[in-house]
Amino acid sequence: MKVKFADLKTQYLSLKSEIDSAILGVIDELAFVGGKYPKKFEEDFKALYKVPECVSVANGTDAIYITLKMLGIGIGDEVITTASSWISTSETISQTGAKPVFVDIDEYYTIDPIKIESAITKKTKAIIPVHLYGQAADMESIMKIAKEHKLFVVEDCAQSHFSMLNGKYVGTFGDASTFSFYPGKNLGAYGDAGCILTSNSSLSNKFRMYANHGALKKHEHLMEGINSRLDGIQAAVLSVKLPHLSSWNLKRNNNAMIYNSLLKDLNSVQIPKVRANSFHSFHLYVIRVKERNELVSYLSSKGIETAIHYPTPLPLLPAYSHLNTDLSLIPNSIKHHKEIISLPMYPELDSTSIAYVVDCIKEFYKSK
Ligand SMILES: *Cc1c(COP(=O)(O)O)cnc(C)c1O
Repeated sequence: MKVKFADLKTQYLSLKSEIDSAILGVIDELAFVGGKYPKKFEEDFKALYKVPECVSVANGTDAIYITLKMLGIGIGDEVITTASSWISTSETISQTGAKPVFVDIDEYYTIDPIKIESAITKKTKAIIPVHLYGQAADMESIMKIAKEHKLFVVEDCAQSHFSMLNGKYVGTFGDASTFSFYPGKNLGAYGDAGCILTSNSSLSNKFRMYANHGALKKHEHLMEGINSRLDGIQAAVLSVKLPHLSSWNLKRNNNAMIYNSLLKDLNSVQIPKVRANSFHSFHLYVIRVKERNELVSYLSSKGIETAIHYPTPLPLLPAYSHLNTDLSLIPNSIKHHKEIISLPMYPELDSTSIAYVVDCIKEFYKSK
């Protein structure tokens, strides 16, 4: 038996005629960049989130960069973020000229609010929590700290479309939130795509301007900006998929619960904890084991694809050696990245495949 890590083909086939005609429609209208398709997607996305402003951009990395830049963050500033994320979260901080300051994770694998306090200095301007793997970060505590110290909060929602905490969508707690629609994300385009949500309309105007060469009207460049717009084809694909996102998330969550129930008696495997009063959208289903590399090769020999998100905590990457981060401050992140395996996870994954994956994990531990 073979179990793929993800399966974008099956999802495409389930919507093929709608997606094909949406793409052909964009070509027929020559609506390639900006225009009515991105506008429609923005309207639909912000309506679902009940947030006043949505600005579509070229990808999730630009979404973070544009947000930080328009919040006025730059040289001499510090931005606090988690030691456990994809490099987009921190490289965009550096792109503004500011310095990323890495903070350890809690037992839910998101930034630990208790450790944020001690990382705050006079230079700190913002906090970027990441709702990693689809799990909500502890936003109530983070917002409290941010208010106390007058810091901006930018939520990185690249892995957490429609994840919730205390009855609220993550991405609606902070000053702005950034989304990626990279093909493999819970809501994925057929190329790069992203957006920013905010309740602040003067801020969203700045985002839109900066993403479009500093102009809201053609040839009226009020500032220098960048070119980061959503393509019509990507927007049209996203509009076809958006109505299905909730049910896809429920299927992911249900698959995670099947994994959890089958794995819970296996002492060698640490299953993901879900934060209380939250909805985890399970972009990734991540277990922790001591024998990580051995188990990865064993599963691969059984036809099971796995992945590691991510092999190295951000401060340990060569790109951040110059920061000389005190590693004694990030013990949880260091341990986490040595032990994690992302198991196959996608909405269409069936329970037979999940049972097979778990059987193989059990076989591996029997032979130990
Ligand atoms: C995917 C991702 C991004 C970046 O999104 P792109 O669209 O690939 O630029 C940012 N942060 C996190 C946590 C991600 O997983």
